[in-house]
Amino acid sequence: MTDIEPLIDLQDVDGRIRELELELKDLPRRRALETARLNGSIADLESAKAALAAVNSRVRSDEEEAKAAEEKISQLKIAQTSLKTNKEYAQYSMQIDIVQKEIEGALERIAAATAPDGDVAAAERRLADAQAKYDGEKVGVDKFCAEIDERITALEGELAAAKEERTEKARNVTDPKYKLYYERLRTKRWPVVVPLTPEGVCDGCHLVQPPHVAQLVDRNAGMVACTMCGRILYR
Ligand SMILES: [Zn+2]
Repeated sequence: MTDIEPLIDLQDVDGRIRELELELKDLPRRRALETARLNGSIADLESAKAALAAVNSRVRSDEEEAKAAEEKISQLKIAQTSLKTNKEYAQYSMQIDIVQKEIEGALERIAAATAPDGDVAAAERRLADAQAKYDGEKVGVDKFCAEIDERITALEGELAAAKEERTEKARNVTDPKYKLYYERLRTKRWPVVVPLTPEGVCDGCHLVQPPHVAQLVDRNAGMVACTMCGRILYR
């Protein structure tokens, strides 16, 4: 009686477990790669937001400048009423003109920036474009990530079932020597149980076995291991 067949059954389950575990290990990496695809459009979006904020801040500072200048003009006008000489009056008028020019300059800059073809509208368009590009990409990425999460859940279910199946299959391997040998080797050499080819070659490491090894295998005389890699041979 040989334990080879139950051992091969066990190895089949272990092979499935290995594949499931490999894929489960790989999926979070693929998820992260997919999420990282958004980094470019996130950067564009942030930069568009910053550009709009800068343009708006420029307009606000021009508005403040114009407002401060208007206050200065009204102060100058009040002071002007109490002046004694025409010369002083004329000097104040000149100063008022200068400040008035500053106001006009600020108002012109505001008008240019807020015009339909101005910097504010351009920055808003750029932001809207960046937002739309990001939103569009995010839909795809979210969908992909949801699929990955579903796949992970499914694989975890399959893995749990395979592990239960493994417990059963391991029970069928009755010879503790086989079981121990297999369990020790399976983390180092995979697969552990391999055919001895008709030419007498180990299917694991491809070493030609000495004739007596093939004879032992064919005689079913207990566990026979490859003389090179130690895999369990069968035919
Ligand atoms: Zn071998």
